[in-house]
Amino acid sequence: MPEFNLDSAGPIFTGLAIYGGLVVAAFWLAMIVWTYRDMRARSRDTFAQILAALLVAVLTVPGLIIYLLLRPRETLSEAYERSLEEEALLQEIEDKPTCPGCKNRVQADWQVCPSCHTRLKKPCIHCGQTLELPWNLCPYCATPQTGQTGHSTRRATTRAPSPQEAWAGYQSAASLEFIDGEE
Ligand SMILES: [Zn+2]
Ligand SMILES: [Zn+2]
Repeated sequence: MPEFNLDSAGPIFTGLAIYGGLVVAAFWLAMIVWTYRDMRARSRDTFAQILAALLVAVLTVPGLIIYLLLRPRETLSEAYERSLEEEALLQEIEDKPTCPGCKNRVQADWQVCPSCHTRLKKPCIHCGQTLELPWNLCPYCATPQTGQTGHSTRRATTRAPSPQEAWAGYQSAASLEFIDGEE
């Protein structure tokens, strides 16, 4: 009976050994392929891709662990997305209008800067929409702004800055004096 068992067990062990070998080989190949693909998603450098695959091929599981520790943190598509987001953010910041007088942020529909009182926009004489100062015609209701533009806004643009500047100058001088006096 034991002899019969050994005889029948021989081929089974051989079969199991072959099966185990095949599984290990398949895992080994899969690890190499996965590493190569993963590195290709993270780097355009062909040398780095081959090096990563070789590392796993030679060192197997420890090689894979080393690769996971050392691989670039983000994939190329993630890096691309991040650069797009950063660009969009930068664009948003640049697009925000600023006051020409004090460089503070202003809203696009404000008529006057609340910080330095610089005239930013003017209202349409007919519909009241906010218009750019140089516009002579309202784009919303097509009313010519000549009656107001020629005189009041021209006056506003030419006259307004000087009292404002004087006022700003007076304010800064006063505050400086005040600080000097206190110290
Ligand atoms: Zn301002
Ligand atoms: Zn209008």
